[in-house]
Amino acid sequence: MARLVMKFGGTSVADIERIRNVARHVKREIGAGHEVAVVVSAMSGKTNELVAWCRDGAPLHDAREYDAVVSSGEQVTAGLLAIVLEGMGVNARSWQGWQLPILTSNAHGTARILDINGGELVKRFKERKEVAVIAGFQGMHKETGRITTLGRGGSDTSAVAVAAAIQAERCDIYTDVDGVYTTDPRVVPRAQRLPKIAYEEMLELASLGAKVMQVRSVELGMVHNVRIFVRSSFEKPEDIDPHGTPPGTLICGEEEIVEQQVVSGIAFSKDEAQISVRSVQDKPGVAAAIFGPLADANINVDMIVQNVSSDGATTDLTFTVPASDYQRATDVLAKSRGEIGYERLDRATDIAKISVIGIGMRSHAGVAAQAFKALAEKGINIRAITTSEIKFSLLIDAIYTELAVRTLHSLYDLDK
Ligand code: ADP
Ligand code: ASP
Ligand code: MG
Repeated sequence: MARLVMKFGGTSVADIERIRNVARHVKREIGAGHEVAVVVSAMSGKTNELVAWCRDGAPLHDAREYDAVVSSGEQVTAGLLAIVLEGMGVNARSWQGWQLPILTSNAHGTARILDINGGELVKRFKERKEVAVIAGFQGMHKETGRITTLGRGGSDTSAVAVAAAIQAERCDIYTDVDGVYTTDPRVVPRAQRLPKIAYEEMLELASLGAKVMQVRSVELGMVHNVRIFVRSSFEKPEDIDPHGTPPGTLICGEEEIVEQQVVSGIAFSKDEAQISVRSVQDKPGVAAAIFGPLADANINVDMIVQNVSSDGATTDLTFTVPASDYQRATDVLAKSRGEIGYERLDRATDIAKISVIGIGMRSHAGVAAQAFKALAEKGINIRAITTSEIKFSLLIDAIYTELAVRTLHSLYDLDK
């Protein structure tokens, strides 16, 4: 007997038929004698619809009310799955974030989980053989008692946090792909499924654009050592042996990975904007004058490049921000123009960031240089480069995204 968390994403619970399919996956594990907590997302498209309604109501709405609205999608699917399970003769009870409770910080819209009480769930596993069906994505602020949400894709984080709280053997992430691939399989059909990936690599992949797992869920998994297994919900539930090893990807500690490749995966993001601050004084304090106000406005700055000035007097500073923050960032810079003292701002929004990730890069030199050459041969210009221990990122024009990803995918031998 094992204790499992089973998480189902939006496409896996998109309608009643798919919810029935999910219930059959759950029934299979219960039949094998396991204790199960299920975490569900809203039906696919639902959260987008709810977010759009909030914007329609008022573009600058109160984040507490945003949370009251957008958390409702998961409330529906949790209740529905419990109904369907009961209809199949499986004991089940739904739980919303505030009912467990899942206590969070006060950052409405992007709250962090602080604590989960798993005691009641475990008691019910034992006493009633009851499946817990938990609404993902939502929690409750510790002090105000108001509903919070965990940021887009947050049901992954709910699932991993529940797994840590009830000390589950495994956290199964059921989704519309059967694992984590070397890159998004929807963009590169030759992408290969990885049998295992280290937490650190998954963290980079997720934060650099692969939306298969929410970044915070991987962080939590790493901290609490939760074994996360990404697998498909679209396989016929009854064809799966609950004691066997189905196709999927295990996210685990790097010591568990025997055959480590130099490059494990490629991520990309088109949600970037580039801002160049032209002709600022080349003197101490200028970077602080630019990035201080941006940080105060909670804008995440990435890929900073500063030119060496040719005249010793002025220089240019280029950086990227998420496309969603682009307008705010330029407004902030316009306001601080007096203190920064720049001549003009140049901007580009049709750009993409391509990132190559692999723990093996720690011990291999020249990995990035190969990419520069391969992209040059395709005529793709690189606008900016950043590197760190286990990854490098390149900024290019967005129209070349697919070509660049495919080129690098073959270059690093990920096609086979
Ligand atoms: P869910 O609704 O189940 O949470 P998501 O849409 O959030 O599912 O995440 C699954 C999607 O992530 C896949 O459909 C796939 O297109 C995308 N994806 C991006 N990069 C990768 C990758 N490297 N491996 C697998 N899937 C990826
Ligand atoms: N329903 C939420 C979203 O679409 C949370 C999730 O699906 O993980 O972002
Ligand atoms: Mg998701």
